[in-house]
Amino acid sequence: MALLGAIADDFTGATDLASMLVGQGMRVVQLIGVPQASDPVPDADAIIVALKSRTAPVHEAVADSLAALKWLQGADCKQFFFKYCSTFDSTDRGNIGPVADALVDALGCGFALACPAFPVNGRSVYQGYLFVGANLLNESGMENHPLTPMKDANLVRVLSRQTDATVGLVSYATVQHGAMAIRGAMTVLKEQGRRYAIVDAVTDDDLFAIGKAAAKHALITGGSGVAIGLPANFRAAGLLPEAEDPGALPDATGHCAVLAGSCSRATLFQIGTAKLHVPTLELDPLATPDAHALAAQAIAWMDGKLGDTPIVIAASGTPEKVAALQAQLGRDAAGALVEATLAEIAEALVARGVRRLVVAGGETSGAVVQRLGVTRLRIGDEIDPGVPWTYAEGSGPALHLALKSGNFGARDFFLKAFGMGVPE
Ligand code: ADP
Repeated sequence: MALLGAIADDFTGATDLASMLVGQGMRVVQLIGVPQASDPVPDADAIIVALKSRTAPVHEAVADSLAALKWLQGADCKQFFFKYCSTFDSTDRGNIGPVADALVDALGCGFALACPAFPVNGRSVYQGYLFVGANLLNESGMENHPLTPMKDANLVRVLSRQTDATVGLVSYATVQHGAMAIRGAMTVLKEQGRRYAIVDAVTDDDLFAIGKAAAKHALITGGSGVAIGLPANFRAAGLLPEAEDPGALPDATGHCAVLAGSCSRATLFQIGTAKLHVPTLELDPLATPDAHALAAQAIAWMDGKLGDTPIVIAASGTPEKVAALQAQLGRDAAGALVEATLAEIAEALVARGVRRLVVAGGETSGAVVQRLGVTRLRIGDEIDPGVPWTYAEGSGPALHLALKSGNFGARDFFLKAFGMGVPE
């Protein structure tokens, strides 16, 4: 029986939530895209449907989210979670507000809390303002995001622009008094007719208290952080037995490889560290702007190199290199070229016996998972915060996959994933 049913607005975000829940003792399966009505319900305590709805047209994001909710209701989930990014990635048109509105409406619950705080990764909310480390969201670099520039850190205002409903705040003055106080404040806001409450949180203790306060809520919305307190509610209700090893996966065998398509700083550092220790190929899409030709270069290069030591194949470039390719092809075509290249290389790696694969980049992960025909991921233990190993199944051979959001992971992540971490 699944207890928690979650809908995530992107792939690596879904995995991040999954990892949080495994860390709190739940057995978790992540499904790729809206499941078919006939798809079997996996044996798990939490099921997460990973959508690509963060920047999709609003009507599409809403329709997919509602379809996912319906399937999760059919799977008998007791509580629902709408997962978005801990930097509240959205625009004035959505998609956080419209999707949350549709879910609140479908569940008939009238109210949901909204909390993107994720203290271990530096995201905190105070007086409704979202901070990334010591900086306000709109001074964190997120104001320059190509798709969802976040130019306002006040989440009450940001969410208000995305919904007809009114948005309240449960401020830190209340949150610090714990679950009872938070629950009381949310009840008052709901009675005042507010559909949402942004809830302040600075530490994991705050998030545990918020989770406890929301034990009876049909819907919770937020980053993966606020899910930290939910498994304890199910345990307290006698619904979640202690699992000895909730992240247990089948044994990992087969060749090892890393594919990187993220151009985020953390990933560029990780490639720099990896190439000091393991065979690393850096593709040059500007010199060869052709997916098949680039993939052919990589396939020729990998010959004789596959085994227990990982190889790294990266298309990632510095901001200057990315800008140059985008100037030549246009932004979408540049991204599509690199994604198609890495997807083709992933297929070739699997055909040659790779069964332990790390993919860096959210969009890149989406492209790879789609090409490999993966439909479900059982979530294993974390390599670094927010990035677990998973056991991927679908139309191709089963394999161990780690899908890394571009900015996640320590410098030696590509080595550490294969048990070869090096001191920082
Ligand atoms: P992140 O998780 O860091 O945002 P993504 O994979 O989501 O990473 O996004 C990175 C995007 O950049 C992808 O669309 C990828 O295809 C594209 N990309 C990767 N390398 C290059 C490059 N050298 N030039 C232009 N675009 C690139």
